[in-house]
Amino acid sequence: MRRRRAGIGDRPGENVLSASSVTLHPQADDVFAIVFDRPGSRVNLIDEQWVDDVSRALDEAERRRARGIVFLSAKPDHFIAGADVSLIAGLANAAEGEAKCRIGQKLFDRIDDLPIPTVVAISGACLGGGMELALACDQRIAVRTDRSILGLPEVRLGVLPGFGGTVRLPRIAGTMDALNLILTGRSLRPRDARRLGIVDRIVPKERLIELSLEALRQGPPPRRRPWSKSLVEALAAGTPFGRAITRSVLRAQTRRATGGHYPAPNVIIDRVLEGRGLAREEALVREARAFGTLALTPVARNLLWLFQANEALGRPADRERREEHIERAALLGAGTMGGGIAGAFAESGITVRMKDVSNDALRAGLHAAAGPVQRRVERRRLSPRERDAILANISPTTQWTGFERASLVIEAVPEVFDLKIRVLREAEVHLPAHALLASNTSSLSITRMGGELRTPERFLGIHFFNPVHRMPLVEIIPGKNTSPEIVERAVALVRRLRKSPLVVGDSPGFLVNRLLFPYLNEAALAVEEGWPVERIDRAMEKFGMPMGPLRVLDEVGLDVASHVAGVLEDAFGDRAKPAGVLHRLVQAKAFGVKSGRGFWIHEKGRRVPNREALVIRTSAVAPDDAEIVDRLLLGMVLEASHCLAEQVVRDPGDLDLGTVLGAGFPPFHGGIRRWARSIGESEIRRRLQQWASRYGERFMPGPELGQLFS
Ligand code: NAD
Repeated sequence: MRRRRAGIGDRPGENVLSASSVTLHPQADDVFAIVFDRPGSRVNLIDEQWVDDVSRALDEAERRRARGIVFLSAKPDHFIAGADVSLIAGLANAAEGEAKCRIGQKLFDRIDDLPIPTVVAISGACLGGGMELALACDQRIAVRTDRSILGLPEVRLGVLPGFGGTVRLPRIAGTMDALNLILTGRSLRPRDARRLGIVDRIVPKERLIELSLEALRQGPPPRRRPWSKSLVEALAAGTPFGRAITRSVLRAQTRRATGGHYPAPNVIIDRVLEGRGLAREEALVREARAFGTLALTPVARNLLWLFQANEALGRPADRERREEHIERAALLGAGTMGGGIAGAFAESGITVRMKDVSNDALRAGLHAAAGPVQRRVERRRLSPRERDAILANISPTTQWTGFERASLVIEAVPEVFDLKIRVLREAEVHLPAHALLASNTSSLSITRMGGELRTPERFLGIHFFNPVHRMPLVEIIPGKNTSPEIVERAVALVRRLRKSPLVVGDSPGFLVNRLLFPYLNEAALAVEEGWPVERIDRAMEKFGMPMGPLRVLDEVGLDVASHVAGVLEDAFGDRAKPAGVLHRLVQAKAFGVKSGRGFWIHEKGRRVPNREALVIRTSAVAPDDAEIVDRLLLGMVLEASHCLAEQVVRDPGDLDLGTVLGAGFPPFHGGIRRWARSIGESEIRRRLQQWASRYGERFMPGPELGQLFS
């Protein structure tokens, strides 16, 4: 076979079959390449057209008596990102989902059953259906990269891999590793995939095509399973008894991890374990049926909707997303947030200058930036060399040197208006004219701050959440005079940091804190009335919140919460009156986790309710869980309707994304608006009126409530 350095099919006329997304290219020795290249898109996706195109390419290859096939992508950084999610979200019923899966499965069966050798050449994301295609090939060759590119993330959308993933992956990687991958939805780096037997060879990117063609001729390398893995496989999945034990252990683990709110994991466990004992065809039929059923569950509908809304965030409807080429950023303030934001920039390969008033403060900032990176080294997700390369992107300073080359600066100094303005004005002098100027303020008005600057048109709020490395949402807050181009650049920047940019209005608390406050404050008010701290937190955790509201308050710090509460009370008056207990605890220096006591007493590895938080009234009755959930969330629903009426969000769906990504609202409920809609307007109104008769105005629904349901 002839060695080729260039790409496949780069000579005009070589392509013998050109459909919209798939082309067929003859190579030497009667070998063919099937190349994926979805027109007008950065990624390849699987849809009905793609399935047709691949079938036709296979027909043609067979007609020409192909002696081998290599599958590859023409996109530089993607193989296939998976099935088009809008198709799953648009399924009308379970039978349609099942039928669509069967079509994909049959195509991959055909590839699996070809009498000629097949190789898949993987460069970049090979996810979902892309991975299932790869599993149907005889050999999988991947490029050498540190990025995690191979995985079956369907569980995150509330479904399971429906093109044979639950059947083929266990046969290739072993049942337990397959279950781990499918249940977590995590992606693997090529070297980890090779360790599991999923990838056969890892090759340099520039030789991918050449070495894939060579692999086709040579056949797969010997695949040997370590004896320990074979033993685990035999014990855990080799007999009906072993499978029954494995099933109940995994079900219990999953329940602990997800609170039992998601139906997909249990179905995945059953499909994978049962599939081991079945013929391929029967196992596939059951997989497709399970997919159809899961895809129509309310949980999957919510997750699919959130995925799509997140993808569309900040993207203009009429064009592809803008790419932002920021190479140099700068930060003012190296505290909790400054350090965290610097770390996010550094991880995205952006060099960042970090300025503070003292070397001690800078050291603390570097420490804050290094923490999450170091933890990844400890988990073997990153090598020490990679860590050092990331952290070398941050250069600390107490001077203004280097700012003249920065294309953006984010201010994260303490939350004091005059201090922020002084620092921002100085920055204006040292920055180039085109640089974007942002504040990470959590409560000050962006328009008011901009009014104090010489160049308000390039100034806006970019509000990160704490801890920066874990929180996916970033609020982008244009002031009255911010130019639209600056907003677009901020959106692109946040995307570059692999976070979700939510453009929100310059309203007190912006969006997330404004929605969180009524919920947290209502929990504090309930404590004042004698509702038990542990009951309140447990009820909300059972509802699906990652942490109860009183623990959240303790984590945030009651002093910080009181400050935000004050800002919101100034803006919204009585309906946002903070619970007195917040103030009393702060007075008693019970700030929450940082001082060891707040609503809870935090001792090493233990938490007990803090009795001083309670002001027990004689009328207090023990509420049930449903009552707690209602009382705490209905205020959030009302506030969401105010935000919509005041156009704090551009799109009603932003209320859901904001609450899920910024406030920990359970994704399976779909966000505050979708949760309210699942109950219905008249029922929500009825409940609000009931609460209003007990607690007055703050629960009284107004006309704007209707907008949430229209
Ligand atoms: P922090 O106190 O941890 O850090 C502030 C840093 O700014 C300190 O290192 C301080 O030395 C430095 N600083 C003070 N004056 C300076 C100056 N003139 N020039 C340069 N640096 C100076 O505060 P933080 O928690 O990181 O908060 C920073 C900002 O982020 C605030 O506006 C806060 O409201 C906002 N915010 C905080 C959180 C949070 O949870 N901590 C979340 C979102 C937003």
